[in-house]
Formats: sequence, C-alpha cells, structure tokens
Amino acid sequence: MPGPEAIRGRQSLYRRVDEIRSQLPAGDLLYTAQTLIPVYFHPFDGRCLGAMIMGEDCILVNSSYPRTAQRFSLAHEMIHLFLHIRPHAPRGRWDEWQANEGAAQLLVPYQSFLPEVARRRILYTQDRPALERLLAKRYGVSPTVIRNRFSDLRAPLENHLAGCPLEQVFAPCGRALRPAGGNIDIFR
Ligand SMILES: [Zn+2]
Repeated sequence: MPGPEAIRGRQSLYRRVDEIRSQLPAGDLLYTAQTLIPVYFHPFDGRCLGAMIMGEDCILVNSSYPRTAQRFSLAHEMIHLFLHIRPHAPRGRWDEWQANEGAAQLLVPYQSFLPEVARRRILYTQDRPALERLLAKRYGVSPTVIRNRFSDLRAPLENHLAGCPLEQVFAPCGRALRPAGGNIDIFR
C-alpha cells in the first residue's frame, strides 16, 4: 500500500496529466497525440522498446508492436517529454514510475475508471479477469494495464465503492475517518 507521500505524489501527477489530456482532442491517442507533438510510426528492433523520444522532441513509436502496446509506450514517452525537465537525460526509477503511472492516467483516467468498475461491481467481485479484459477493450490498453490500475488505485476504488465521491477518493475519507456515531464506523 502506498503511504501518504506516494498518494500525494500520485494526485499531483494526475493533475498534470489531466492538463495534458485537456489539450488533446477526443479520440485515440495514436492519432490525437500529433496535435501536441510530432509522432512517427516505424517498425524497429527494440525487444523491450515500444517508443522513444527523438532528437527534435518528436516521438518514434515501434509499429511492430500491438496497438495497445504502441498506445501505452506513446503515452509513457509523452509523460517524459511534457513532465520531465530534461527528457533526454538518464532517468531514475522515480521518472519511470511517473511515466508509467502518468501513461496509465492518460489512457485510463481514474475519474472514469472508478465509476466504470462501480457499475460492474458484481463482475469486479466475482470475475476480475473478465472485467480486466472488458475494460482493456474499452480503454484500448492491455489487460495488464487494467490489472495494475486495480492495484495502484485500490484505496481510491474501495473508497468509491463505499460511496465516496470522486473528488474525495484519495483522501482518507472513506473508512477510517467517517464514524457513523459512537464507535461504529459507517463502512465496516
Ligand atoms: Zn521511460
């Protein structure tokens, strides 16, 4: 479970990612990203490289990968490009965490993901892999991205499923701090 620092980091990261998304037209990132940054698609032999930032601040996407992987790799590089001061410099684990977490928020925003899961609460509790596949299709990502979303957003998701509005899901509002009266916690 992430501590308060990690959650605060995630919230501020998400705010910045949401700003980037607000500049994008609606539609598939593989097409819309071009409005913010030149993007080129070309097959190249990068066994674990889905995309990279090129010299003139454009992004090259490995078109030999499935479109779900292209989409995530493109989003990952966009986060490096827009949020990291020196996108070409060697990166640390923190930068990579931000790029992966930011890409996930760009493609699967929690503001729509949590309500999507809440609408399918029965599937969520009874057949998680089926829900992962369904939402993967809905968001154009791999089931792994959805699985990571489930684990990274576990606390906000639990809060939302317990009735916490989206604006408050990151605050520790859900369980511990909302006593119903006396010593009885409303959500337990
Ligand atoms: Zn990276």
